[in-house]
Amino acid sequence: DHRNGEPADETELAIDGALRPTSLAEFVGQQKVRGQLQLLLDAARIQQRSPDHILLSGPPGLGKTTLAMIVAHESGRPLRLSSGPAIQHAGDLAALLSSLTPGEVLFIDEVHRMARAAEEMLYLAMEDFRIDIMVGKGAGATSIPLDLAPFTLVGATTRSGLLPNPLRDRFGFTAHLEYYDPAELEQVIERSAVMLGVTLPSAARGEIARRSRGTPRIANRLLRRVRDYVIVHGGAEGEADIATVGAALDLYDVDAIGLDRLDRSVLEALVRRFRGGPVGLNTLAVTVGEESETIESVVEPYLVRIGFMGRTPRGRIATPEAYAHLRIPHAEDALR
Ligand code: ATP
Repeated sequence: DHRNGEPADETELAIDGALRPTSLAEFVGQQKVRGQLQLLLDAARIQQRSPDHILLSGPPGLGKTTLAMIVAHESGRPLRLSSGPAIQHAGDLAALLSSLTPGEVLFIDEVHRMARAAEEMLYLAMEDFRIDIMVGKGAGATSIPLDLAPFTLVGATTRSGLLPNPLRDRFGFTAHLEYYDPAELEQVIERSAVMLGVTLPSAARGEIARRSRGTPRIANRLLRRVRDYVIVHGGAEGEADIATVGAALDLYDVDAIGLDRLDRSVLEALVRRFRGGPVGLNTLAVTVGEESETIESVVEPYLVRIGFMGRTPRGRIATPEAYAHLRIPHAEDALR
């Protein structure tokens, strides 16, 4: 799935990994969250204990996995990666938790997609570093308590509202990651360009930044496509000017403000099929052939953020700015 700038294959995955900052100091933007995490890690270090459990929420590609790696790296602890969809039974979680070494950092991506029974097991594990394992069935079933090594859970979710309250409450620190502004994305691109060996004048960096949907992962992906374009079509000594950047990104259906095909089809459905709304999320999702969760946690937050979409109690609406961007006359204006 190319959609969120997901790495397409092994090589891209490796590059993605290589571009990850490994310390809070190298991590661009999210200044508030960085400061809060720094304090949390420093306090834990001084007291020689595991840092508190951390919940990171926000749209994909803003750096949740990267931050989890940084937490492990900066506190000198090993990191274990897992994800909600991989934990479909309480037993999966029991096996995972009981195999952690003391102080290990456990990252669970999409923590809201864990099985219900596992979620309940996690409450006790987070609080007391203990789980109860059920053995047997029916009347003969008993539970055996098992002590765990202390660990730090870093949970990631696209929206913290998807988590049940008892789980959310057990995180000592919750951070919401915001979309990055173009100046911050330029810094991400500058750093990655050096690592990828692409020479980019500042105007070209700005152009990629403006088209990156406020998302570092997308910025890195678009940079790789620009690099490909330069490799194939040549540039003055591998230099990508602003026209090259434009041509490369047009080729990949990324428009002038960074909206991709799905963003535009959601807006177009809203405007053309539903006359600007309001329309319910599920209806909108079915119309464009996507899952509602993707629309709600990936597409919508950005469109709301740039003022193209509004949420009302009766459903989603398109704003006049969205009409203008699609070059569709606004019906209300036409009637006046
Ligand atoms: P998902 O929720 O889908 O796992 P994510 O929010 O965890 O996404 P990451 O995988 O951490 O996103 O980040 C995606 C890419 O963006 C990484 O390759 C990383 O190099 C880069 N990146 C993310 N945040 C930053 C940042 N603040 N500074 C520099 N690079 C960043």
